[in-house]
Amino acid sequence: MVKVGVLALQGAVREHIRALEASGAEAIIVKRVDQLEQLDGLIIPGGESTTMRRLIDKYDFLEPLKEFGKSGKPMFGTCAGLILLAGRIKDREDAHLGLIDMYVERNAFGRQRESFEAELMIKDVADDFDAVFIRAPLVLEVGEDVEVLSKFGERIVAVRQGPYLACSFHPELTNDHRVTSYFVRMVEESKA
Ligand code: GLN
Repeated sequence: MVKVGVLALQGAVREHIRALEASGAEAIIVKRVDQLEQLDGLIIPGGESTTMRRLIDKYDFLEPLKEFGKSGKPMFGTCAGLILLAGRIKDREDAHLGLIDMYVERNAFGRQRESFEAELMIKDVADDFDAVFIRAPLVLEVGEDVEVLSKFGERIVAVRQGPYLACSFHPELTNDHRVTSYFVRMVEESKA
């Protein structure tokens, strides 16, 4: 069984743990930097990216997380986690982890659509995935090494760049664990 951590500084942690276990991985709640070395993959959950970043700095996670990503171990960012993985963020000078070559906008659906559900086609995952969006970010542009896995209308909502996966919705909030299972397979393949 692969060991997949969920960064547990803030946000939707418990639901990811449940989804990972349902997908056949050993799920680990990560609160300390020294836990990273035992992991085969890591999920950065949704929440509030600015708050999460503050806690990442407070607990000295920034460099260890960047190194984890650069080691080639798979990382999956959902919603705020997508923002943390992005290379460039609209209206912000610096990125956080900067691992995915994409330009993102926070809270991109506007206040009138704070949260909603939409059925998505996600390449290699599902033709009919009920995705939950909560104050979701959008991917405005991607670099040439980034594969777009899903769009909501014309807007990019899921991407993959090698070992890094990101989506602007919350795949952990329903009982449909196909996105999480896809990530667990990425982790298994990377470990094999
Ligand atoms: N709006 C949040 C942010 O900017 C993301 C929302 C979420 O993770 N559900 O970080």
